[in-house]
Amino acid sequence: TPTVTIIGAGLAGSEAAWQLARRGIRVRLHEMRPQLMTPAHKTGNCAELVCSNTFRADHLENAVGLLHEEMRRLDSLIMRCGDEARIPAGTALAVDREQFSELVTRALKNEPLIEFVDGEVTEIPAEGLVLIASGPLTSDTLYERIKELTGEDRLCFFDAIAPVVDAESINMDVAFWKNRYDKNVEEGEAGDYLNCPMNEQQYKTFIAELVAAEKVAFKGFEDIPFFDGCMPIEEMAERGEDTPRFGPMKPVGLDHPETGERYYAVVQLRRDNRMGSLLNMVGFQTKMTYGEQKRVFTTIPGLENAEFFRLGSLHRNTFIKSPALLDGTLRLKSDPRILFAGQITGVEGYVESASMGLMAGRFLADIACGREPVAPPSDTAHGALLAHISQTRVEDFQPMNINFGLLPAGKKRDGKRRFSRAERRHAVSDRALAVLDQWLKEQPQAE
Ligand code: FAD
Repeated sequence: TPTVTIIGAGLAGSEAAWQLARRGIRVRLHEMRPQLMTPAHKTGNCAELVCSNTFRADHLENAVGLLHEEMRRLDSLIMRCGDEARIPAGTALAVDREQFSELVTRALKNEPLIEFVDGEVTEIPAEGLVLIASGPLTSDTLYERIKELTGEDRLCFFDAIAPVVDAESINMDVAFWKNRYDKNVEEGEAGDYLNCPMNEQQYKTFIAELVAAEKVAFKGFEDIPFFDGCMPIEEMAERGEDTPRFGPMKPVGLDHPETGERYYAVVQLRRDNRMGSLLNMVGFQTKMTYGEQKRVFTTIPGLENAEFFRLGSLHRNTFIKSPALLDGTLRLKSDPRILFAGQITGVEGYVESASMGLMAGRFLADIACGREPVAPPSDTAHGALLAHISQTRVEDFQPMNINFGLLPAGKKRDGKRRFSRAERRHAVSDRALAVLDQWLKEQPQAE
């Protein structure tokens, strides 16, 4: 069987190397650290955690907890080492970060089929199977090579994310569906935007809160250019009290569809997925700390009890426009011997990145053995992430954590009994695990 080249021994590359070696496939694993460091990494270890030391919630009422469990069932090295390096953190899986990456490094170094190659990769190999897992902080030279492969406009270099809200958590006594001036709305349809209206007093208080809120410092990333469309909402508010009202919070054409009431400002949310379970806050990219986002955004009328599937952020993030470029098994459509995995594919977070490395490792093992790779069904967490990467509308594509909005909804009631949110989520997780087990049974077994 051929040797697989992996670029980057981060969360995704390490997991992929492990999966391949476990299946008897030779791996050449390239890592540039410690010779060339990124602005965020501090060591030369594999799978270094650059910021927090948590893999987030570790139970089945949370989608990342489901992803953990699926990964454990798929013999994940990242989860095995995470469990071993676990430190107390309530229901979350937090790890001792040094112990964790030392365990990963040791496990990979003990694999005779994995050859470590130190130093920056500056050319993508012209032959053989290749996995690009160089992460959000891909080196500049490799970034240029990837750009040649994917096209300039296909590689997003800067990432401005606005919060995504659980549609079910919005107070519909206050919010209403309507497109500006009712444009592009078919007869009898509600519109694509959910509007949260404000009067003058509410707006002025909200703007004052935005200006006063605590923001995240931009360490080491100041030199990266901002695009105009990426300006944080609080920076807009600092330019002038009325600036957001003439920008994303513009109320014109958004009078109430039934009462005709006019508003001083409006916060708009747009469907972020086909099912409409996720709503994106339009123009609300922000550098506020997560705590402040929750506090300030829940003062918006209609969002008093909002649950956030994803909070806003602004940071450098190299990711490709995967839906245009990759097939459902992470292969580059224009050159299917090249696969991508990790944050560069447009998933967000340690666990999600590792899970896509896990998938890439399995797919590459199949390809190396002459088999067509098969993705898990989209009602598993892994399948849902793969579907997000390959099937989202390209114009709407933004990095995403795993969340229940990406999975088919659970049953709301059984006869008269209405299920609680926790019960529904548990049911979605139970179904995902059963589907995964079945899929796993149908796959060729590791050696
Ligand atoms: P990485 O883990 O970054 O691995 C990529 C590897 O490729 C690195 O080791 C890098 O050195 C190597 N590499 C790059 N270019 C080359 C090259 N040319 N040749 C050889 N090797 C190369 N996620 C969270 O879940 N929680 C957080 O708190 C969090 N904080 C973050 C803070 C910052 C500043 C950033 C940038 C990201 C943060 N993330 C966080 C996201 C996190 O980086 C990713 O989720 C995860 O590390 C991505 O895994 P990966 O394998 O795709 O990339």
